[in-house]
Amino acid sequence: MKFDTPTRLSIALLALCGLVALIIFSGASFQIAAFVIVGGLGLIFITLAPQSVSDAERSPAPPAETREGRIVDALQDAVLLLEESRVVQANAAARKLLGKHIIGQDVRTGLRHPAISALVADPEGLGQVEVNGIGTAGQIWEVRVDRAGDSQRLVHLVDRSARHAAEKARVDFVANASHELRTPLATLLGYIETLQDDEGAGGQPETRRRFLSIMDAEAKRMQRLVSDLMSLSRIEAEKHAFPEQDVELAELVRKVVAERPEKLDVAIERESHRIKGDAVQLSQLLHNLIDNAVKYGGNNGQVRVTLVRGKGTSILSVIDRGDGIAPQHLPRLTERFYRVDPGRSRSAGGTGLGLSIVKHITEHHRGILNIDSAPGKGTTVAVSFAIPTEGTVT
Ligand code: ADP
Repeated sequence: MKFDTPTRLSIALLALCGLVALIIFSGASFQIAAFVIVGGLGLIFITLAPQSVSDAERSPAPPAETREGRIVDALQDAVLLLEESRVVQANAAARKLLGKHIIGQDVRTGLRHPAISALVADPEGLGQVEVNGIGTAGQIWEVRVDRAGDSQRLVHLVDRSARHAAEKARVDFVANASHELRTPLATLLGYIETLQDDEGAGGQPETRRRFLSIMDAEAKRMQRLVSDLMSLSRIEAEKHAFPEQDVELAELVRKVVAERPEKLDVAIERESHRIKGDAVQLSQLLHNLIDNAVKYGGNNGQVRVTLVRGKGTSILSVIDRGDGIAPQHLPRLTERFYRVDPGRSRSAGGTGLGLSIVKHITEHHRGILNIDSAPGKGTTVAVSFAIPTEGTVT
């Protein structure tokens, strides 16, 4: 007969108390008393010892012992084996997701989801549903029920959260891009309508000139946006092909700086910073960073471009002494259309895509992007690129 731990402990303590009482009332000698107490303690120990074994016996789901079991346990997806609707086996991922007690339970009780209950209620029921409410909040699962042999079924839970997040990002991106284009387009259409009215404001030369200059600015804004959108999609399309050109970053920095209208402070630590890359993309990365440093770097702010060697890397940095960025914005800066101050960005001609393009180009080059900023102190954006072989570097 098996007792649980509290019952066993009570029995053992009662036995010990009984022994002690017997010794006291029988007036036994000290040696006999000590012998009996030590014996009693030993008895308690022996009484309790088998309990730990029976606990282990009762602990659900020992690790899979067979080769097949080990394979199923190594799967990242959660897998349950059902007999009728009772769970008879669960792999490691399923035990982690649903708890060890899932084994032996009715799957409808264990998963507590009406769509899954409906699917498994019929012992012959097979099929697939997509559900949330299992695991952590916001996780989305594809639940498939397949036949496994004659009398069993396999429930397969696949985490589809990442796929849904990517789909949502795509949908949001299209909505944001349309919104960004719609605003200047509406302005353009409004002014065209006014200019068509020769009798009204469109007939006055001064007003026409003013309107045309606004239309020009709005059309250029749309042009920048379309050009950035095309850049993004080009970089994304090439993201799996590592760029193979030999690019001398020092030369590239000098060339980009010479193309800029602003006077920039440049410091190149060594002559050679040869990396594998795509020169067009790297120029765009540097232009985008300089654009931002100039836009947000304060009116009289000096922008500094540096190229230094790190451990097996070349680090390209653009530094400004502008207003800086509050820490809560830093993790989101490279999201498409994320702006700290949308009004300021738009009036400075920003598309909200500059840093997102920088991030994609950096990833394409397997580089590391680091944005270091403090309000009132300025911003340093650094990108480090691996140098392929140390031997070729001067
Ligand atoms: P935008 O076209 O708006 O400049 P970006 O993707 O280049 O878009 O930058 C996103 C936002 O990050 C900007 O709107 C701005 O708020 C902030 N930002 C980027 N660079 C700097 C900088 N050097 N100093 C301060 N804020 C910056």
